[in-house]
Amino acid sequence: MGLLSGRKTVYVDSDVLVIGGGMAGCGATYEARYWGRDLNIVCVEKANIERSGAVAQGLYAINCYMGMQWDENQPEDHVRYARNDLMGLVREDLGYDIARHVDSSVHKFEEWGLPIMKDPETGQYMREGKWQIMIHGESYKPIVAEAARKAASKVYNRIMVTHLLMDKTKANRVAGAVGFNVRTGDFYVFRAPAVIVAAGGASHIYKPRSVGEGMGRTWYAPWSSASAYALPILVGAKMTQMENRIVLTRFKDGYGPVGAYFLHLKTYTENAYGDEYESNWYENTKELVGDYIDRQPVPTCLRNHAILEEIKAGRGPIRMVTKEAFQDPHKETIGWENFLGMTIGQAVVWASQNIDPKHTNPELTTSEPYVMGSHATCSGAWASGPEDYAPSEYQWGYNRMMTVDGLFGAGDTIGGTAHKFSSGSFAEGRIAAKAAVKYVKDLGKERPQVNEAEYENLKKVVFQPMENYEVGRNEIVAGTVSPSYLLPLHGLQRLEKIMDEYVGGISSHYTTNEPLLTRGLELLGMLKEDLDHLGAEDLHQLQRAWELQHRVLASESVTHHTMFRKETRWPGYYYRGDHMKLDDKDWHCFTLSQYDRESGEWAMEKAPVYHIVD
Ligand SMILES: Cc1cc2nc3c(=O)[nH]c(=O)nc-3n(C[C@H](O)[C@H](O)[C@H](O)COP(=O)(O)OP(=O)(O)OC[C@H]3O[C@@H](n4cnc5c(N)ncnc54)[C@H](O)[C@@H]3O)c2cc1C
Repeated sequence: MGLLSGRKTVYVDSDVLVIGGGMAGCGATYEARYWGRDLNIVCVEKANIERSGAVAQGLYAINCYMGMQWDENQPEDHVRYARNDLMGLVREDLGYDIARHVDSSVHKFEEWGLPIMKDPETGQYMREGKWQIMIHGESYKPIVAEAARKAASKVYNRIMVTHLLMDKTKANRVAGAVGFNVRTGDFYVFRAPAVIVAAGGASHIYKPRSVGEGMGRTWYAPWSSASAYALPILVGAKMTQMENRIVLTRFKDGYGPVGAYFLHLKTYTENAYGDEYESNWYENTKELVGDYIDRQPVPTCLRNHAILEEIKAGRGPIRMVTKEAFQDPHKETIGWENFLGMTIGQAVVWASQNIDPKHTNPELTTSEPYVMGSHATCSGAWASGPEDYAPSEYQWGYNRMMTVDGLFGAGDTIGGTAHKFSSGSFAEGRIAAKAAVKYVKDLGKERPQVNEAEYENLKKVVFQPMENYEVGRNEIVAGTVSPSYLLPLHGLQRLEKIMDEYVGGISSHYTTNEPLLTRGLELLGMLKEDLDHLGAEDLHQLQRAWELQHRVLASESVTHHTMFRKETRWPGYYYRGDHMKLDDKDWHCFTLSQYDRESGEWAMEKAPVYHIVD
């Protein structure tokens, strides 16, 4: 008798299904209720929305705020900024759409109780930098989650969504999703005409700098497991800019953020010998990327590039000069508070390593790469743009709808729109939900039909790793080594090694080339074959198994995109050793991919970049 015999299936019907209750998911749930007063709005979250997602631990700054009420910045300014930082390639229509709406979302946060620091003289929000405002944000996520909880018909916590369901009456139309409760093991079938994927970014697809007992410590949240990409990829949604993985310069070992240090405390960096080094690499960088090095502010990837080159030249480590700023008691307080409100681990690391930044300049390092759509990077799904602003080629349906009917996205899920951060992700969730409600209303009484055979089959597939373990566990040869199954952790380590060594991770100084990528794809293919033999001893491990499945698919997408773009557009994020220069003639474009589930093939194409803002 198999494991499925006694397993309960729970059916949930809704009009709008939001997958992931992080910043974008909470924004989507809140806004869906505003436009769809009488609709059934369901949010499903694999953790608990109270403290889930990348903002779980809190933040010290909201990084995307225009300040239009005080005439600080206009949306066009933000488009120029993001375009510059991403070396020319952003979806300006989507970025503009977020920028024009983001301030009102921040005002909502304040109304709901988020303490935003104010300038005592002007009463305006205290700026950390041109786009950032400072908050006491330890409770940022619970505050935002409360609004979503009150708006939702129901929030389903502790359910990991594994697959989307497609309509059996109309091709290329979504009909819902399936998943399992990570506590009870119940199988869930969610039926919905409109689905908004807001499942965050991807950590742990590359080998992290912290391994062994420290592997839970990554910069991006360790539970960001690429579902945002795998779910749409599997049903054939087009993805864009998946090669644009991000590498962060952060404090060593704790991945503590540096923004407040640079912007507010006015600290700066130096090499091991106390020398300024960035200017040494000006000519070298100009040779690679031309005039992009002269843009202000200097694009994030190029600042990484100078650090990497300086270290390769043997003059590392790079240090942040904190000793001067920390003599000022106000700045010292800000420096520590910055970590306590957002990355407590960094303060603990410094304490454990006898680093008091008042007396010791702490080391910086570059992180392993992450895949996400909301930071200084823009990987994600290819989405339709706003009706009043997007060029016709970027408009095939409703705002933020992917290339699959009824399937929407926001936050890290949507590609081409860098620098949205927490507030912009929330705002984008609101934008997507407004469009999704319109989509549902336009459908009238018509509803997509889920295919019973499809979800019954998925039920078997989803729990198969437990079945594999149940059957194979008696064959264990030593410890956790089994000839008949692969544990999720072992699969994860294998994935991270492939991505690290072949697709430009830390051990190769982020450098790859066509032969390496070709071999990487072969090895990923072999790993995929073995994933049928994943073994999960309990529900927790079953979640790990599905997180791994999602990470592997996203990694495959990253690898295909990296292979397709034959240039080095973002030195400091990654290098194509066989195409070391930026090539605006052939590659001033977006890369798009589409996965065919039946054949396992990926189709790649280019899409034009339209510069709408001058
Ligand atoms: C270390 C760090 C520092 C940051 N600093 C700042 C900052 O200072 N200021 C700022 O404004 N922004 C900052 N950000 C960025 C900000 O956190 C993100 O832009 C934002 O959280 C992205 O929103 P999202 O909804 O796309 O993803 P998330 O907020 O991560 O939400 C994704 C949600 O989906 C859920 N989920 C994932 N997979 C599934 C699944 N299969 N089924 C069901 N649920 C699922 C997750 O549990 C999670 O709740 C920072 C992020 C990090 C990690």
